[in-house]
Amino acid sequence: MVSLNNKSVIPAKFELESEFNFRCYPGISCFTRCCRNIELLLTPHDVIRMKNRLGLSSTEFLARYTRYREDEKTTHPLVFIKMNEDDQKLCPFVAEKEGCRIYTDRPAACRYYPVGQATHRTASEKEDEDPVHQEFYVIIKEDHCRGFDEDRQWTIGKWREDQEAARADELNLEWKNIMMKQNLPREDEDRERRQKMFYLASYDIDAFRRYVLESRFLEIFDVEPERLEKIKNDEIELMHFAFDYIKYMLGISQQLRLKPQLAEEQRRAVDEKRAREVAERAAREARIREGRSQ
Ligand code: SF4
Ligand code: SF4
Repeated sequence: MVSLNNKSVIPAKFELESEFNFRCYPGISCFTRCCRNIELLLTPHDVIRMKNRLGLSSTEFLARYTRYREDEKTTHPLVFIKMNEDDQKLCPFVAEKEGCRIYTDRPAACRYYPVGQATHRTASEKEDEDPVHQEFYVIIKEDHCRGFDEDRQWTIGKWREDQEAARADELNLEWKNIMMKQNLPREDEDRERRQKMFYLASYDIDAFRRYVLESRFLEIFDVEPERLEKIKNDEIELMHFAFDYIKYMLGISQQLRLKPQLAEEQRRAVDEKRAREVAERAAREARIREGRSQ
């Protein structure tokens, strides 16, 4: 994702048919200059590919190679590649001569570069509808990047195909949609625990698998046997299941459901809480009225 305040972003919206000149190859004078001192945001799918490429568990990968922060506006949990802590702040995966050591499993943002994806959000005309998100592309032209001096011509669409970014987009779409929704209310008393679960389900897929299979999760949630088999054996299925769990937590959708008996108990508890609140409010108002009439 690209911040449009970035000075290197050409101030124009690009579509799939928009053209640009670019070529990047080992030997170009600026080779790997773009792999240092950057904010490189990872998606859940990026983490799966990278940790598998490196033969690590997601927990090990996250601890060793990423840093975490909450998004300032949305407070959603985000992870970024932790750049080396020396003067150059190189990406830990770059090697001077061969370039990216995980090239075929590099993150989506690196696949797209120097193209960036952006979303323009406008309020819907109807009050009760979600905001409208309009997707477009930007070009990031940094001073050190000599690739723009080359004469190979692309359209954004061709570049996307060449970099195998379309498949990554498909797998990242559900995540992107979640990230545009409201997070948990800041004053929610259970927020800290749920924010931790949000992070776990988003990025720490191996720990999330253990949480599903080894805790009381399956006593609480109604998961069809076929889906359970799939998520045991397929990380991408597990990732989509984790998205359903996050959507459940954020109240976005109920694709994941509580067991019928628990759902009934929860409904009853909510009804009782509401009835208590109504009774308390009525008692308060009655006291105020009494006070006035004395
Ligand atoms: S041409 Fe641009 S993208 Fe390629 S190595 Fe140089 S700085 Fe990086
Ligand atoms: S992951 Fe690879 S392509 Fe991306 S910044 Fe690091 S070295 Fe460069």
